Amino acid sequence: MSPQTFVMKVSPKAPQKRLILTAAEALRRGGLVAFPTETVYGLGADAFNAEAVKQIFVAKGRPLDNPVIVHIASVADLKALTSHVPERASLLIDRFWPGPLTLILRKSPDVPDDVTGGLDTVAVRMPQNKIALALIKALGHPIAAPSANLSGRPSGTTAGHVLQDFAGKIDMILDGGPVAVGLESTVLDLSRKPPAILRPGAITQEDLEPFLGRVVMGRGADDKKRSPGTRYRHYSPKARVTLVEPGDETAIARLLDQHAKAKRKVAVVARHFTAGGGVRPIVRIMPPDLEEYAQQIFAVFRELDELGVDEIIVEKTEEEGIGVAIMDRLRRAAAR
Ligand code: AMP
Ligand code: MG
Repeated sequence: MSPQTFVMKVSPKAPQKRLILTAAEALRRGGLVAFPTETVYGLGADAFNAEAVKQIFVAKGRPLDNPVIVHIASVADLKALTSHVPERASLLIDRFWPGPLTLILRKSPDVPDDVTGGLDTVAVRMPQNKIALALIKALGHPIAAPSANLSGRPSGTTAGHVLQDFAGKIDMILDGGPVAVGLESTVLDLSRKPPAILRPGAITQEDLEPFLGRVVMGRGADDKKRSPGTRYRHYSPKARVTLVEPGDETAIARLLDQHAKAKRKVAVVARHFTAGGGVRPIVRIMPPDLEEYAQQIFAVFRELDELGVDEIIVEKTEEEGIGVAIMDRLRRAAAR
């Protein structure tokens, strides 16, 4: 759409007003602006400008039936999006917003269908990032923003990743440094009972259950209809990803051997790995801490793509805390 993409460094602690106003002006004119949130970078448009929202789908190559999350800066902004905030939503909002929790609520008729993919619900969250909040406030409208990556690619967690995917295609990138969480928000469907987690994230089932009672993990055919984004292969590097059990160096050695025979360029992404035998893969040792792991994994996938790796062998993590979300992304990256 726009041949030039302005990249502006913005202070994450005290976002410069002038820069925020410039970005808000671009959005007001119907442009696209990428900005940091605490989860991943978002590719934003004015949520009430249907034409601008359409451009997000064009820029990303995103299927039109995959709805986007609307970002707000205050609870009062909810009024424009939904006519009814259920009691249990209020509890969660008090506890988790601003933060990496997206709530699916009944939508008000004013929300453009392009935002919601024609569904009767809308996905909303208040991000915990001063740049994002300042931008939404300066625009004076909620901002529709999916993750800032070409559809199917790993989400952008630095401004550099966003530039890789969108140079010359969007108006502006606000560079607020690397994101804190590194994985997309938890998506919680409150429009049904029991509430269902459609996408795991930093806020876990155990975090939510004290407020809601039983919460189910939404998987299966019906859930895919409800959260179209979960239908697609996703978060994927260009290289083929194969998962192995934690600590299973024998499995890694066997795969390395096969790839060596086929002369494929291989990387191992693992927390435990000692030797590659006669083969010399690129070895990316990941942090033992799951939060740090989450923060790095998409950047690692992009880095390995840059290096022209054909195959990535990834050691699974434990599935507890944010590990549930990590494993969800790893499985999708490995899906064929
Ligand atoms: P992204 O914006 O790239 O982080 O992806 C947003 C995710 O939220 C996708 O998996 C969407 O399918 C999901 N989503 C957005 N809006 C809705 C909605 N109204 N109902 C169910 N899922 C939604
Ligand atoms: Mg996405």
